[in-house]
Amino acid sequence: MTLASRTKYLRPEGAYQVLGRAREFEAMGREIVHLEIGQPDFETFPNIGLAGIRGISLGHTRYTPPAGLPELRAVIAEDAEKRRGINVSPEMVVVSPGAKPNLFFPTLALIEPGDEVLYPDPGFPTYEAMIQVAGGVPLAVPLCEEKNFSFDLEALRRLISPKTRMIILNSPSNPTGGVIPMEDLIQIAELAQEYDCWVMSDEIYARIVYDGRTAPTIAALPGMLERTIIVDGFSKTYAMTGWRLGYGIMPVELAQRVGLLLTHSIGSTAQFTQDAGIEALTGPQDMASAVVTEYQQRRDVIVAGLNAIPGVSCQKPQGAFYVFPNISATGLSANQLVERILDEAGVALLPGSSFGKYGEGYLRLSYAN
Ligand code: PLP
Repeated sequence: MTLASRTKYLRPEGAYQVLGRAREFEAMGREIVHLEIGQPDFETFPNIGLAGIRGISLGHTRYTPPAGLPELRAVIAEDAEKRRGINVSPEMVVVSPGAKPNLFFPTLALIEPGDEVLYPDPGFPTYEAMIQVAGGVPLAVPLCEEKNFSFDLEALRRLISPKTRMIILNSPSNPTGGVIPMEDLIQIAELAQEYDCWVMSDEIYARIVYDGRTAPTIAALPGMLERTIIVDGFSKTYAMTGWRLGYGIMPVELAQRVGLLLTHSIGSTAQFTQDAGIEALTGPQDMASAVVTEYQQRRDVIVAGLNAIPGVSCQKPQGAFYVFPNISATGLSANQLVERILDEAGVALLPGSSFGKYGEGYLRLSYAN
């Protein structure tokens, strides 16, 4: 079969591959501990679930505007003003089924074939995929373990050039849990302005940060709102992965283009899901906070446990629900170790190398489970 070249780089996500193998073991009667998938083990909070059910019973099951219900866009704009300290109008908000379309479509709207895009490595595999589908050239910027997995700014300076069209940030990060500190964001913002490029800031874990800290957004720095796409959603904060609800915040002209891409691909996001999203943002927030406290306790247990294993060293991540221990002293590759841990101990986790070449020598464990 001859397939279009734009799909030739697409690969499955590592998490689904390991999950598949773990399920085979389970079908044979073995008990497996799942630490591979980045999905909260909590149920969607009851007030949010009920808002969705109410939406269905009210007949909210029809097409809606492609960029989202005006009420939800307004609520998201208000939330961004309050939480991120930026001026957002509802026209800058694009709602989508999950956050992923708001990664993919702004990339399709901005990247011409041959444009270079800088992205974090190790990083969420969708970044490289979407850059390649758009015909762009993905350039991996290593994250530095010694800097709590923030960007290697020297490498960023070496890689950025007049050909750079976009820089992708993810803070707190999947797979490392690292948070990019303000002093690094300031330098990245200066480079973005000097080279006149866009920043896509994936902030889907922005509400999951520990030790009383916050994850700052680059969009709040002077001159950045007009060149930043903030990507966020409901999957992680409100345990809504399967509802499929996310959003992007971007300049109005780009938001209109992304709205057209949604019109001709996805059509619209389910209305009852958006009803649930309005409740999530405007209803009580105590469960979202309680879950973060629970994750923080799990983080402390898992980091201490990993550091007690000879040959393993693990930073204490400041956000998200992943740890990224360094296993290079074991002398095994990440893949070899993952296979042995699954086969011999019945624990499913991911090789750091499934998040890019700079992830070799590490494992990712999700403690959302
Ligand atoms: N961005 C990052 C960094 C993620 O880890 C994920 C999900 O794992 C997403 C985006 C996608 O989120 P959603 O499930 O809302 O599409």
